[in-house]
Amino acid sequence: MLQLTDSVTELTGVGPKRLTALGQLGIQNISDLLYYFPFRYEDLKVKDLAEAADQEKVTLKGTVVAEPVISRWGPGKTRLNVRILVEHDVVMVTFFNQPYLKDKFETGVDVAIYGKWDAKRHTLTGMKVLAVQSADNPSFAAIYSVNKSVQQGTLVKLIKEAYEKYQAVIPELIPEALRQQYKLVNEQALIAGMHFPETYPEAKQARRTAIFHEFFLYQLQLQSIKQSERHVANGLALHYQNAALKEFIQTLPFELTAAQKRVVNEICLDLKSPTHMNRLLQGDVGSGKTIVAAITMFAAVTAGYQAALMVPTEILAEQHYQKLKQLFAPMNVTVGLLTGSITAKERRPLLADIENGRINMIVGTHALIQNAVNYQRLGFAVIDEQHRFGVNQRRILREKGLQPDVLAMTATPIPRTLAITAYGEMDVSTIDELPKGRVPIETSWVRSNQVEQALSFVGTQLAQHSQVFAITPLIAESEQMDLKNAEEIYAKLSERFAPDYQVALLHGKLKDDEKNRIMTAFSENQIQLLVSTTVVEVGVDVPNATVMLIFDADRFGLAQLHQLRGRVGRGKKQAYCLLVADPKNQQGIDRMTIMTETNDGFVVAQKDLELRGPGEVFGHQQSGVPTFKVGDPIADFASLQVAQQAVQKIFTTDPDLTHYPTLKQYLAQQQQNYLTLD
Ligand code: ADP
Ligand code: MG
Repeated sequence: MLQLTDSVTELTGVGPKRLTALGQLGIQNISDLLYYFPFRYEDLKVKDLAEAADQEKVTLKGTVVAEPVISRWGPGKTRLNVRILVEHDVVMVTFFNQPYLKDKFETGVDVAIYGKWDAKRHTLTGMKVLAVQSADNPSFAAIYSVNKSVQQGTLVKLIKEAYEKYQAVIPELIPEALRQQYKLVNEQALIAGMHFPETYPEAKQARRTAIFHEFFLYQLQLQSIKQSERHVANGLALHYQNAALKEFIQTLPFELTAAQKRVVNEICLDLKSPTHMNRLLQGDVGSGKTIVAAITMFAAVTAGYQAALMVPTEILAEQHYQKLKQLFAPMNVTVGLLTGSITAKERRPLLADIENGRINMIVGTHALIQNAVNYQRLGFAVIDEQHRFGVNQRRILREKGLQPDVLAMTATPIPRTLAITAYGEMDVSTIDELPKGRVPIETSWVRSNQVEQALSFVGTQLAQHSQVFAITPLIAESEQMDLKNAEEIYAKLSERFAPDYQVALLHGKLKDDEKNRIMTAFSENQIQLLVSTTVVEVGVDVPNATVMLIFDADRFGLAQLHQLRGRVGRGKKQAYCLLVADPKNQQGIDRMTIMTETNDGFVVAQKDLELRGPGEVFGHQQSGVPTFKVGDPIADFASLQVAQQAVQKIFTTDPDLTHYPTLKQYLAQQQQNYLTLD
């Protein structure tokens, strides 16, 4: 039987290669494909010349007046010129670098061309040759975000085929009553209307439904977690040993800030109480969240439970592991590290020790929630950089233990209303103060023609035994290009600073254990200058690093720049952030200015919101709010709220979803996806 979970290889022309290419877009099965929506539409309706505005993208229809002429205007560059008669005007149409279009133009034949209209010069820069409009030609073309290996045309063809073949088995996920109440279209119309709309109202209606659809299913997952906890009458009451905790805090090399003490108390209170802890800990970069995690994890251990710390990257896992091991060496606490790159040989005894309880604290990546991992007595789970994880990963971690208390930590402040919607009913603790003695980071914006000065400054810092991060540009389209850039900068900096100083290159393509080796060497000051792509962006803590040098800084978003900057200024020495950038637009200039003006993460987040708008900020991975594909949790907040309430009502009246078999099946599928992902 046909099912939306069928692989896309069921479609014509999808072999292993195309499967990989589609996979890069997040498309694996038919459902992924059908719900891969366009981000905008092009109006292909033919316009009259008189209606076309200057620089507008329009479709013109006319008759080819003369044979097209191809000319060269640079190495490998061509221009195709063709004159067409539109009504009574002759228009010159130019296509760049598409000489093969020549065959499409035959003198005396009608054509329709989509392109950009230049009213002054009376010319059209051609973008697309369309079939001359006929009854079955759509007036809109959906535009998808694609990559090099999957083209628009291919995607459209596949979506069409999938829709034709599978439309009869698309399950109706939004309950009928809700659909009627909120005037939403059914699932088939949603998909058809998103991909192949005939009119704008149709596209709009489909989009409205798609937004609700997305929020509804998200809320369904979120609230089903709460449901799964419902069956447990009580959470755990962790009776920790207060004296041991105090003693441990005494051993720390610094005094906790008032804010740290306050949040430790809040968390401990939750631990002790028999209700579930479901708490979010927010605090700016460098505010000292890790030690709060360590103290409270220790509390759980003194109560006779295991504690787990889950982090998004191997580098962070390794760093936290080393730190906890060192902190707890005198306390007779055994710490274990579990990541994807641990060898099979190390793995078996490790898993055994987690299961028999010899290990008290486990640090790891999402390897912590794999099927093979069984905890003896998991009572407390901390999730660092929580926004990097999905809803289901939190759920599975929870289900691993005896319904452990959960603390999620994030450096990204988000509006309160949004926090509740995004995280469910989490309690929030905030660290609103930085440790004493921190000297504020000095941020400067350097033009690329002043990079020499920046480098000599790096030289003086290195000479003072400080360490330096150099972050290389981010080129959105291609990891390959990122790497090439990184290598070039690495070569340049090595030439200048090696062998007096050790220079190393860190990038995403390295094996995990290689990354760990380099990071460890950097944190032990065996490497002084670390050239890196953004893999160091979250969480890394090397207090002796005082310079964060960011190349092409205008390519990064504000939140990310702030995260990167937060890698320095963690010790007592004055730290510097140097942004090398020649921004080409006002936004870039604004971002550089804001960075030089404030160190406060809350202010940066607020400015980010103003500059980019909520859609961009909260649609982004970094933001702390899950990524939605069509919906915008702020602009479409009303829809989000309705979805939240609707789901609430469903669970109140029918907690086991007995009357909603499709929803039940959907949830089961989602969980399975996550379980097999790793
Ligand atoms: P983040 O909140 O960004 O995760 P970390 O937990 O990595 O920050 O802490 C940043 C640095 O500050 C670490 O080197 C940590 O040891 C140090 N630190 C934490 N709390 C204090 C404190 N109360 N006084 C001085 N230094 C502290
Ligand atoms: Mg951290």
